Amino acid sequence: MPPRPDFLRPLVLSGPSGTGKSTLLQRLFAEYPDKFAFSVSHTTRLPRPGELDGKQYHFVSRDVFLDLLNRKGFIEHAEFSGNLYGTSVQAVQSIADSGRRCILDIESQGVRQIKQTDLNPVYLFISPPSLAALRERLTSRGTETEVAVEKRLGTALVEIEYAKEPGVHDLVIVNDDLDRAYELFKKVALGEHVEGDSLPPLND
Ligand code: ADP
Ligand code: 5GP
Repeated sequence: MPPRPDFLRPLVLSGPSGTGKSTLLQRLFAEYPDKFAFSVSHTTRLPRPGELDGKQYHFVSRDVFLDLLNRKGFIEHAEFSGNLYGTSVQAVQSIADSGRRCILDIESQGVRQIKQTDLNPVYLFISPPSLAALRERLTSRGTETEVAVEKRLGTALVEIEYAKEPGVHDLVIVNDDLDRAYELFKKVALGEHVEGDSLPPLND
């Protein structure tokens, strides 16, 4: 059976830090090891325990990042919570002819920049069920200091305001119950047409 048309378009995942994007992606890659390819971004942040260079990110110094930026090596880039992040041209090009669906996990400044390119992806926003749940997840992940959690929560409000603008995303999935959210996410990733969720008020 030929792939569904949306499967041939890249999938851009965004949503506040701690909403569960990596968790959903890990499940997807475990269930379908050959169908998808993650666009491995560059970042200047330090690896978390268990993160591997070249897998979750290319972990680089600020100098290396800025050098690649000067050489027009990024499709998009952003400063997020004090670190630089960017999608290299190479990251996306290396996937283009693989037959796998390219998946990007980026924040909203990057989404805005991708919209100026001819990548033509499907834009999916992963929403937390509430701000309280987001705080709880960021804290219990245990990867950030208290200060960094507050910074990420502040940035989350910006991400959410952007997501409220009409037409920014093609689809929203609320990551409330993980199994439910994953079933929906899987369908979107496979290119099936699904009714997404409504964006919760996220004002608590
Ligand atoms: P992101 O990649 O969006 O920053 P993560 O995938 O790292 O977020 O998830 C943040 C934390 O929330 C992790 O500890 C993860 O185990 C947890 N988590 C993810 N999805 C859910 C969910 N539906 N319910 C409760 N906790 C979740
Ligand atoms: P984290 O430090 O938690 O891995 O990621 C922080 C934020 O950076 C997340 O919102 C993630 O989506 C975003 N991000 C990761 N890679 C990129 C990238 O290449 N470009 C942009 N613009 N954002 C990224």
